[in-house]
Amino acid sequence: MRGFGSKRQQQHQTAYLYLPPLHFYSAITNNLLVVASLLTSPVSTEPKCYIDTGICTVTLQEDNFRSNLLYAPLGIIFTLTWIILAYEFFALAHVYLNPLIILLLGGFPIYKGTELITDKFIFTDSKVAYGPCPSCNAENRVYFGDILGVEGFKDTANVKCSNCKIQFNVQRNSLRASTLPK
Ligand SMILES: [Zn+2]
Repeated sequence: MRGFGSKRQQQHQTAYLYLPPLHFYSAITNNLLVVASLLTSPVSTEPKCYIDTGICTVTLQEDNFRSNLLYAPLGIIFTLTWIILAYEFFALAHVYLNPLIILLLGGFPIYKGTELITDKFIFTDSKVAYGPCPSCNAENRVYFGDILGVEGFKDTANVKCSNCKIQFNVQRNSLRASTLPK
């Protein structure tokens, strides 16, 4: 039993105060993700229409920011659980580790575990793409893959533009979007 007011108990309590709030971590990771997506996103492409077939096409881009964001829910849960459990575990042996050191120790397994479980059970075969509607140029977003076992788009996504309501297909591999022949 740990007595109230003992020196160790005070250390135990104050160590928590050094843990920055959650939004501190998410602000850092969000900024890194934005920088990463800016560095990797290619130049935007313009829609092209062919008069003979009436088909308009454009190539979308992968949304790296949102693709990475899919890992955030589980990553945050794992990180917080690990910090609290590891802290309490070491505290039983009267070792009061700085939560940041605990975070560093668990960082790699948490990253790998989050990736594995998210890819296998939550967002399977996920890919997020964005780009202009081939017909009206309005920005659209497409999600490929399954969510919690509910089947989504596989190789081809059938999308309805949020602006002009035209139907178009997006190929998963090439991210090529094209309207249906008229
Ligand atoms: Zn449109």
